[in-house]
Amino acid sequence: MSLREVLRSCGVSRREFLQYCTAVSATLALPQTFAPQIAEALENEDGRPSVIWMEFQSCSGDSEAILRSGRPKIGEIVLDVLSVDYMEVIMAASGHLAEEAKEQAMEKNMGKYLLVIEGAIPVNDDGVYCCVAGDTAINHLKKAAAGAAAVIAVGNCASFGGIPAGHPNPTGAKGVQDIVSGKPVVNLPGCPCNADNITALVVHYLVFGDLPAVDRHLRPKFAYGKRIHDNCERRGHFDAGQYVDAWGDDAHKKGWCLYKMGCKGPETFHNCPTIRFNDGLSWPVMAGHGCVGCAEPGFMDTMAPFYGRLPNIPGFGVESQATKIGVKLAGAVAAVFAVHGILNMIRNKGMVKKVEAEHLDHDKTEEGGK
Ligand code: SF4
Repeated sequence: MSLREVLRSCGVSRREFLQYCTAVSATLALPQTFAPQIAEALENEDGRPSVIWMEFQSCSGDSEAILRSGRPKIGEIVLDVLSVDYMEVIMAASGHLAEEAKEQAMEKNMGKYLLVIEGAIPVNDDGVYCCVAGDTAINHLKKAAAGAAAVIAVGNCASFGGIPAGHPNPTGAKGVQDIVSGKPVVNLPGCPCNADNITALVVHYLVFGDLPAVDRHLRPKFAYGKRIHDNCERRGHFDAGQYVDAWGDDAHKKGWCLYKMGCKGPETFHNCPTIRFNDGLSWPVMAGHGCVGCAEPGFMDTMAPFYGRLPNIPGFGVESQATKIGVKLAGAVAAVFAVHGILNMIRNKGMVKKVEAEHLDHDKTEEGGK
């Protein structure tokens, strides 16, 4: 059955499909004019790459993210019809039959399939802490990667080791990029990763025959090129010095900034605020919880405690103007973060000199921020 037929049988109109293609082009930071090209590539049955999805040290959260909907959305249909030849979570076969299905899919598409890896790979004690079908995750990964066109690591665990690699990392959990060599690797970290980014990545590969540009952590720039903090809908409150001080307080109810509650948005690069989750319905900060930084290397260790304020902010940028005013705050970045919005407000009112004279201290600033 062709993609067009499947979409029709699922009640998806041509118009909705084209709208979806336009949304994918936006996710990929392409002009809308690419939408027809994307539609054509998706509908071209001959050009569909095979996808083999393997899971190791994982909670299946990334599989759930892509399969979650009771009402399948177009992206899921597209991915499903497109190419997924092997995926343990959804396939009917198990045991030897499942292994045979994987071997067949690899053999049939040798050198051409996209290998998707979910979960970390333990290397301590020869990898015995994760075995599938009597062999270690390391061996499964190396073998599958050898025949792949490219390897896509979905979720923070497959990208950087994630939660299994948290201190003291007893199993020696690592990310795909630490195991695989000689093949292009793309990381789609997140906990879970966003299914729309997986679809967009596959679509990019279909349309351009290549993988998208990546950053130094091998993350596609279209999805990880901007700080969460810079696209956050609460940013206006951050700039205005309006912060939540306690869960459930008035500021929280009003949707003010969650920086003081430990939000890691200023240090995290991801497109959560723009594409969101669940059909664009919401994302953690929109739902009232700070970002936990799950798209960054070293998560969770580097982002813990989740409810502790960031001690240091890279790329402080325009905010650094605040340090010129509040000299007492120069050595305390967290404090500067708390006051800079207020200083901006005050500056706008032509009161900077008055503030300088008063040597605004941190407590006073927090009080003013409420
Ligand atoms: Fe949004 Fe968090 Fe930045 Fe506040 S600190 S603006 S909640 S990303």
